Order: sequence, then C-alpha cells, then structure tokens
Amino acid sequence: MTKTPDSAVRSFIDQHEDAFLADLADWLRIPSVSADPGRAGEVRRSAEWLADKLRATGFPVAEVWETDGLPAVFAEWPSGDAGAPTVLVYGHHDVQPAAREDGWDTDPFEPAVVGRRLYARGAADDKGQVFFHTLGLRAHLAATGRTAPAVNLKLLVEGEEESGSPNFAALVRREAERLAADVVIISDTGMWSETTPTVCTGMRGLADCQIDLYGPDNDIHSGSFGGAVPNPADVAAALVAGLHDADRRVAVPGFYDGVVELTEEERALFAALPFDEAQWLRVAKSYGTQGEAGYSTLERVWARPTAEVNGIWGGYTGPGGKTIVPAEAHLKLSFRLVAGQEVEKVREAVAAWVSAQVPEGIRYEIVFPGATRPCLTPLDHPALRSVVRAMERAFEQKVLFTREGGSGPAADLQDVLGAPVLFLGISVPSDGWHSINEKVELDLLRKGVETSAHLWGDLAENFRR
Ligand SMILES: [Zn+2]
Repeated sequence: MTKTPDSAVRSFIDQHEDAFLADLADWLRIPSVSADPGRAGEVRRSAEWLADKLRATGFPVAEVWETDGLPAVFAEWPSGDAGAPTVLVYGHHDVQPAAREDGWDTDPFEPAVVGRRLYARGAADDKGQVFFHTLGLRAHLAATGRTAPAVNLKLLVEGEEESGSPNFAALVRREAERLAADVVIISDTGMWSETTPTVCTGMRGLADCQIDLYGPDNDIHSGSFGGAVPNPADVAAALVAGLHDADRRVAVPGFYDGVVELTEEERALFAALPFDEAQWLRVAKSYGTQGEAGYSTLERVWARPTAEVNGIWGGYTGPGGKTIVPAEAHLKLSFRLVAGQEVEKVREAVAAWVSAQVPEGIRYEIVFPGATRPCLTPLDHPALRSVVRAMERAFEQKVLFTREGGSGPAADLQDVLGAPVLFLGISVPSDGWHSINEKVELDLLRKGVETSAHLWGDLAENFRR
C-alpha cells in the first residue's frame, strides 16, 4: 500500500478549497435547529442536503434514516479490499439555536468569512467537522489514484445531538448490522488549542440518582417532637457529608472497583500540555480548586471518577423561621464514571451505601434515571496511532492527548457496535460552541481535511482486519 503523498493532498485541497467552502456555506445556511419544533423541516432539509452532497462526493450509498424524531444521514463506500478495516465516522447535522439578537455580530445562518475565520452557527459544532471528511476523502482518492477509499468507509450523521440524542441509541440498535465497524471515529470534539493539536482518547460516563427521604407524615412541631424523632433533612445532610472522605475520595464502598488507573505515560503526556490553572479557574468561574488527593486538576476532570451533589432541598426555606421537623428532604446526586466502572455495579454500591446510612424511622426511595457508559482507547491502540500519525502529517508537529470529562452518545456506538471509539476533532475552545459568534478557523478546517486525507490509507495499512 502506498502512502498518500502529502504534496499531492495539499495541491488537491488548494484547487478545491473555494468550492468546498462555498458548499459548506450552503449547508450552514440551513437552520437545522433540532430543539425548535418549528424548524423540524429545516433539519430534514439539512439531512437531504447532506445525503445529496455525499452522493456527489462519490458515496454509492447515502440515505436519510428516519427515527422517532429527526432524521439522520447514513452513507457507505466499500473499499473493495478484503482485508481493509471498516471505519464508521460519526457527526451531527443539527445545530444549537441561534439568533442575531442573542448578540451575534453577523447573522448566524448567513456564513461570514472574516480573515481566516468562518462565522456561522454549526461552523465548528458540527457541520464543519463533518464536512472536512468529504474533501479529505476526495483528496485521498486523487492523491492515491484509487477509485474507492482504502477502508470501508461509513458515515453516520445524526440530527438530534443538540437535543440530547433521544432516539440515537434506538437507531444504532436498529441499524447495528449496517453500522457494524472495526473502529468508530467521532468528529464532534476539539483540540487543546490552535498551537497544541491533540487527540481525545476517552470520555467519562455518567450515572445520576435521586434520593427522597421521608420522616413524619407532615411537618411537625420541633418543640414537641424535635430531638426525639429522626429528621429527614438531617439524614440528607449526613449523606452529603459522608459522600467524600478527607482526601476527597468518594466514600461509597466499592465505588472505585475496576477503575482503570492512569498510566505513567498518560500522566506525563497530560502534564506536557500547556495548562494554565488560573485561566482554567476563570473559565470555571470558580475561586479555588478542590478534588481527589494525589491528582492534578486535568487528571481529576478527565480520568478520575467523581461524585457531585447537584441538588439538596427539604424543610422550610421561606422568610423568617418555622420551627419544624420537616416531613421530607431530597437529594440529586451524579457520578462521573471512568473506564472499568460498570454502571450497574456503581448503582448497587450507591444503593447499598444509602441503605446502610439511613436510620430507622426514615423511609426513602432511590431512583437512577439515566446512565452513560465511559469510553477509553488505550494510547497504543493501532487505530489511535493512525489518527495521531495522520494529524501529525497535517499539522507537522507532535500531537498530544486529552480526554473529555463530559459524557456523550459515543458510548452508544461503542456499546452496541462493540468497536473502539476514537475522536478526531479540529475545533478549538475559542470556537464558541453553543455560544454567540460560533466560528471555525479556516486553517484548522484545512488541517482537518488533510488529516482525513491521510487517515484512510494509514488505517488500511496498520489496522488490517
Ligand atoms: Zn456537537
């Protein structure tokens, strides 16, 4: 297998960049806001626009897939090479709401190029990042002389990501056979900065719970009964107080079972990132750091499981005093999970911990509304190495690693398809995701195109089935 020559890729992109940007601008003009029922037709138009464009790019299969909500787009282009891996690229074509009145300098749905930046809702999240693969793929074909990609390429572009992907897991399960892949590449993430290209290697999972604590049948007189019956607000506070130990480790027995620990290599690579804690605190709008002893701030957010009190209420909270033993109190807790933790085991551990803490005389209910599993790709995974090499050829500099502290639909793909999930994103923190004046840096968009152009040949060579 021959390597895609970098110069051939670059000259192909030079020739086609203007038309590529004009096409992207057309797509960005479609206000595919999934949260707005009045724009459901625009989300559909966006899906159809993309399917047409993928057909024009050469995909022999490009379909609009219906869901119980808004449509997704699926496209497929077999390589014709029996040993080639199958790669599924994920992105989304819906966007966050946006209006000029929110404070945008330009119309969010009329793309504006200012210098080397393209401003529009969806420019970075996520249309720009989906679209760079189309030109990247064409550059790959042109530079190698191939008539089909070096890998079996599949594309899944959903239409409800900005609304919490309510139908995505069901869609993936329904179409699991057609989506089957050896690796999933998520192009809906970012890099550390313009000057520090990075690859994200995992996301944390999430499990949340609500605990409702009940004492007396109604609020009762604290003078007549207080101090002689258990108080549910007191129990709620005790649960919160006992959630962490003195080292800020989660004190729920069994919570850390199976946790995949950071390797020394990962810790060194995280430490190599130009992290400015004071700046990070400004973004966090917080006035001090706190967390599990023995770990840096980035390690705490990216690679350690945590427990958070999201809400605590109960008893009298109005003006003045009301001397009662309240009838009830409530807690909302959430747990960020890392690779190796099982959602079901964490739920059992939390339920057992609560059961052991709640005194006689207090009834309680605990519910676990939702969960997302964590995902993590080891640094030495051959497909991850391919992504890193492709990025390093595009950026002509060393690529570092990050993780994502949040949780997302990537885990659905990982779980249903049983394939490792990798992240290839070229966005940067200043791109204004979900905010006003969202933009994409045209030079980075081009690096995305180049990375995509180099990736397929590298995967075909180094990640054979
Ligand atoms: Zn997104």
